[in-house]
Amino acid sequence: MTVMEEASRGGLPAEVEQVANREGIDPQKLARLLARGRAVVPRNARREINPTGIGEMLFTKVNLNVGSSQSLNDPQAEVEKALAAVAAGADTIMDLSTGGDLDLIRRAILKEVRVPVGTVPIYQAAVKKELTSQGMFDALERQARDGVDFVTVHVGVTKNTLERLRQDPRIMGVVSRGGSLTMKYISETGEENPYYSEYDYLLEIAREHELTLSLGDGLRPGCIEDASDRAKFMEFITLGELVKRSRKAGVQAMVEGPGHVPADEIETSVKAMKHLTDGAPLYLLGPLVTDIAPGYDHITAAMGGVIAGMAGADFLCATTPSEHLDLPTKEDIIEGTYVTRVAAHAADLTRPGVKERARAQDLQMARARADLDWEKQFAAAINPQLARQIRHRRGVDTDTCTMCSELCAIRLAREAMEKEKERK
Ligand code: SF4
Repeated sequence: MTVMEEASRGGLPAEVEQVANREGIDPQKLARLLARGRAVVPRNARREINPTGIGEMLFTKVNLNVGSSQSLNDPQAEVEKALAAVAAGADTIMDLSTGGDLDLIRRAILKEVRVPVGTVPIYQAAVKKELTSQGMFDALERQARDGVDFVTVHVGVTKNTLERLRQDPRIMGVVSRGGSLTMKYISETGEENPYYSEYDYLLEIAREHELTLSLGDGLRPGCIEDASDRAKFMEFITLGELVKRSRKAGVQAMVEGPGHVPADEIETSVKAMKHLTDGAPLYLLGPLVTDIAPGYDHITAAMGGVIAGMAGADFLCATTPSEHLDLPTKEDIIEGTYVTRVAAHAADLTRPGVKERARAQDLQMARARADLDWEKQFAAAINPQLARQIRHRRGVDTDTCTMCSELCAIRLAREAMEKEKERK
């Protein structure tokens, strides 16, 4: 019996109880959300981790992508990036390696990291030059056996997709690596996407390993101009149908979303995705609100992430300053993690079921600021080390800060109010 089936029969799986206690919600309530497919708790049956919940009534979660490329392949560096992201507060890690010994890198990350780890198995099939139905399923099973907790499968990229794109061409075409590899398979073989045509087999593998499926956004727009087109929404209709089949099979599933989307289209896009997939947890890759800010794409994605989170997105994939430019360094990964956590928290301040608890954190900061209590401010900060380092970087010792010094508005106003009280 899978975790989802256990929850559907009124049971309380251990990982669900653990997540509920951490989130501060009723475990039975989380079990019901999981049974309905509105929340997922990715955890491979073979791996001991600190499980994380993603979905309705839960805090917005943050994923960090690490992994080698064919130009830069240093397994130890990728493990260090994964650990640095977790230390900075990432809830999950995805290993997107495409260079060097993929098994070695993945296994090293799985060994060291105690949060859920996801992968994109089609990369391994492509790197091994086994972009065949057999190769794609072999890669999936191999990674599931290694203990991967969730996998992205681009099941919404089908023959129909190619036809939609032919009829309604895009500027950037397809920018998802998994999506483009699936298109390559379809165009070279003339066959349907195996993960789509043999979805029942895929579900069997997922069931056996308690693998959570992340139904990939193969058609995510790669520029603002391509956002919200027919091909994109066709894919969501397909993903919605596959979510239904996953739930019926007792397999946890979430859905991935775009991409590059102008700010005024994000809410519509997120609500449509949620509607078409019957409220499946939504995992967003951005959305980046402009195309012209390379070097700042962790910020353009965070802007989109806040709007998306306010509209119902549950899980944000961090973007780093290297996006569109280079393989991220460890420093980029750390920066991307903190900036995306800020976006997730800003969304949580408005999110049903969690906003009261999220706001309590801001209240703690506001009180510490009102008291000019610096230690409490650091403790309440998303990145305490950074806050502390900036405050002390010039070595000036003052109980206010060097911004207004003796003219500190907080202190002046407090002293004025105290005098006023004494006078009355
Ligand atoms: S000195 Fe100015 S900026 Fe600094 S704490 Fe006081 S009011 Fe705020």
